[in-house]
Amino acid sequence: DGDPRVPRINAAIRIVPDFPKPGILFRDVTTLLLDHQAFKDSIDIFVERYKEQKIDVVAGIEARGFIFGPPVALAIGAKFVPMRKPRKLPGEVVSEEYTLEYGTDRIEMHVGAVQPGERALIIDDLIATGGTLRAAINLLERVGAQVVECACVIGLSDLKGQEKLGGRPLFILVECE
Ligand code: AMP
Repeated sequence: DGDPRVPRINAAIRIVPDFPKPGILFRDVTTLLLDHQAFKDSIDIFVERYKEQKIDVVAGIEARGFIFGPPVALAIGAKFVPMRKPRKLPGEVVSEEYTLEYGTDRIEMHVGAVQPGERALIIDDLIATGGTLRAAINLLERVGAQVVECACVIGLSDLKGQEKLGGRPLFILVECE
C-alpha cells in the first residue's frame, strides 16, 4: 500500500452495476488491459514482490487468472499452470469442488503439472468470498505443493474472503468496499 501506481490501476477498473445479475457490482478488468501503463504496473508490482521468492509455479485461475498469471510467471522464471473449469483439461486431473452463492462449482488441474515441495503462487483477478482461491489452495496442497501466497488485483473487503484462506497470505493491489 502507498504505492503511487495503485490509484491509476484502481481508476482503470470499470464497475458495471447489476452484472451478471441484479445487485452485483461487477469489477471489469478488461478496461485495465486497455490502459497499457496501468496493466504493466499491475504486473510489475506482482513481479517485484515475487521475483526473489523462489516461486516454482504460478497457478492461474480460469479465466481472468489466465491474463495476469502468465506475464508474472515469465518474468519471475516460474512455470504457469492453468486451473480450469470442469472437463476442459484433456489429461488426468485432480478436482476440487467449492460452494457458490447458489450451488457448487469445480476447478481442475493436471496431475503431474506440480511436483511435491514446489513453491506456488496463485493468481486471480479478484477475491470475493474466497471460495475459489480456497479450492485452488486445496488442489495445490493435495499434490504436495507449498502455497506461498495468493495474489489478486482486486479484493472485496466486506466479503471477508481472506478468512477462508486459513491463514495463507493474501496480497491485493486494490481494496474495494
Ligand atoms: P469468490 O470465490 O467468491 O472469491 O469469487 C471470486 C471469483 O469470482 C473470481 O474468479 C472473480 O473473477 C469472480 N467474481 C466474484 N465477484 C466478482 C465481482 N464483483 N466482479 C468481478 N468478478 C467477480
